[in-house]
Amino acid sequence: MDDLQTGVRNKRGDWAPNQALEVAPFWSWPPKLTQIPAWVVGYFWPWNLVAIATTALWWNYVVPGMDVARTLAWGWVLPLFAANWLGLLAFYGFFEWRYYRRRVQDRSFKYNGKFPAEQPSDVFWFQSQNIDNFLRSFLVSIPIGTAIEVMLLWLYASGHLPSLSWEHNAFALAGLVLLTSFIHEIHFFFIHRLIHMEPLYRWVHSVHHNSVNPSPWSSMSMHPVEGAAYFGVALWLLLLPGHPFLAVHFFTIAAFGAIVGHIGFDRIELPGGGAMTPHAYAHYLHHKHFDVNYCDNGNVPLDLWFGSWHDGSVEGERRMQERYQAKVARLNARRENP
Ligand SMILES: [Zn+2]
Ligand SMILES: [Zn+2]
Repeated sequence: MDDLQTGVRNKRGDWAPNQALEVAPFWSWPPKLTQIPAWVVGYFWPWNLVAIATTALWWNYVVPGMDVARTLAWGWVLPLFAANWLGLLAFYGFFEWRYYRRRVQDRSFKYNGKFPAEQPSDVFWFQSQNIDNFLRSFLVSIPIGTAIEVMLLWLYASGHLPSLSWEHNAFALAGLVLLTSFIHEIHFFFIHRLIHMEPLYRWVHSVHHNSVNPSPWSSMSMHPVEGAAYFGVALWLLLLPGHPFLAVHFFTIAAFGAIVGHIGFDRIELPGGGAMTPHAYAHYLHHKHFDVNYCDNGNVPLDLWFGSWHDGSVEGERRMQERYQAKVARLNARRENP
């Protein structure tokens, strides 16, 4: 498919969609009822269904029985860590290999006209965004996320944390599984706003933002403090009703789901001839402009409510520039009248 049918490419080779991003239709007033069926399909396919299937796979074949998890022991912790590590290597490796190494669709639908491998920089370990992002993800973020997952599984298994049962609370638990990505989105928005403040930005979050042109390996490339805050979303289970399945699902959404927003393409061609829309543009704009789109999407429109929403349109660009000018004026006024 010709990407210029649905978007434009500038002189630098960067592609942008013609259609502006929209928040979920039930947040509009009056609600855009006719758009809700399409939103529901987009909510499940592809990412939520992939996430639920992944959690089910882990739950059945990797996570030990609660009688085993009752005792903290390397015998079950190490296999879980190995499965997380290898599963994420295979998942991210697939996207990296297919779209950034083999480049099966070259730059078609690619937001940034360059590939990270073409842009060596001193901000990265070994001057390579790919090596830097890979090492930070696999040596820092995944171990931190797994440690939080292990702690929660042990708390449930040892009875320190009460658990609902699928037998008696199936509807409540299914609802919580479906709400997990909303909880993740809200959690991510607030920790993300926080780490954009100085000095946290300089000390912590700038590591992630070194990747102005994100690729799959960038997804979990984080400072350890950000990794803990990011995977800390699962700690909401200390307050919410829950189940060990949810401890695994929060990890899945945070770890596998981090790829949303870092794929770098608006449409990707799948093996077998199909294509999918990975919903990556909102977070791509965040990497490009920094002070917009602290959420990954508009399912919970916190960016709209807090004034940081950029829908990719000319109007969105104008609003961002206005906000930026107002911020500069505020900082200047404060400097002149301390
Ligand atoms: Zn990012
Ligand atoms: Zn950020």
